[in-house]
Amino acid sequence: MSAPAPGRPAAALAALRWLAEMGADEAVEETARNRFAPPPARAPSPRAAPAPAGLSPANLPPASAAPAAAPGRAPFSVAPVRRLIEDARAAAAAASDVAALARAVAEFEGCALKRTAKNTVFADGNPAADLMLVGEAPGAEEDRRGLPFVGPAGRLLDLMLAAIGRDRSSAYISNVLFWRPPGNRTPSSEEIALCRPFVDRHIELVRPRVLACVGGIAAKSLLRQTTGITRLRGRWYSFSPGGAGGEIDATALFHPAYLLRQPGHKRQAWSDLLEIRARLEANA
Ligand code: URA
Repeated sequence: MSAPAPGRPAAALAALRWLAEMGADEAVEETARNRFAPPPARAPSPRAAPAPAGLSPANLPPASAAPAAAPGRAPFSVAPVRRLIEDARAAAAAASDVAALARAVAEFEGCALKRTAKNTVFADGNPAADLMLVGEAPGAEEDRRGLPFVGPAGRLLDLMLAAIGRDRSSAYISNVLFWRPPGNRTPSSEEIALCRPFVDRHIELVRPRVLACVGGIAAKSLLRQTTGITRLRGRWYSFSPGGAGGEIDATALFHPAYLLRQPGHKRQAWSDLLEIRARLEANA
């Protein structure tokens, strides 16, 4: 798309609409930056020798090409993802309980999503519950409040839990990502992999009787499957958390956000919930 000409509000509006459609739905600076304005003229250094043509100080890259950190935030590492995953693994393994793990996640700087998120969204509910639900990623309301499933999908999830006699005091809720992807875009496999050591440790520490993967992204990632949620739901799997042994019964459910768009699938979701309740009662 071409740059809007100054003084042409219709073009500027079209550019704004395009940005919103691309997922840039929040302003991150106090004042708008005019990226089409010419760069400020640099005062020539009195000691600088004249540069050869094409190599003036104005068009040379700065000495450090690393992006500047946002004010008040540590710069993000550009280390290879594999090393960042190792860091995540070490931090997760060092956490001896859920509270320590929540701190380790909040302190982890390896996932770039943290840079655009307002809050780290770790978990909600009762970590001693026998039912743990793991969804995809925080949305706008979750990001604002720092809690999972508190937006429209979360309200439906609460109703789904109520259908099997549960609420947030008798279930524990988290996500495979702890930060909101900008514009709620689908998370990348790299972002999921960076959070995964914390997610595995989370499940290992909570050790629920039943693990419910909420939606296709969570189900594919946690159950290490490649098919979609329509095939994954309504079946049982074994989830092995970390090295501590002992498998956890795991299953997959349609995501409540999907059910809001496709209410015709609620019947299957409710039947899956009844299966979960039966499995919990059988294991009680
Ligand atoms: N969708 C999710 O998968 N998780 C949330 O926390 C909110 C919406």
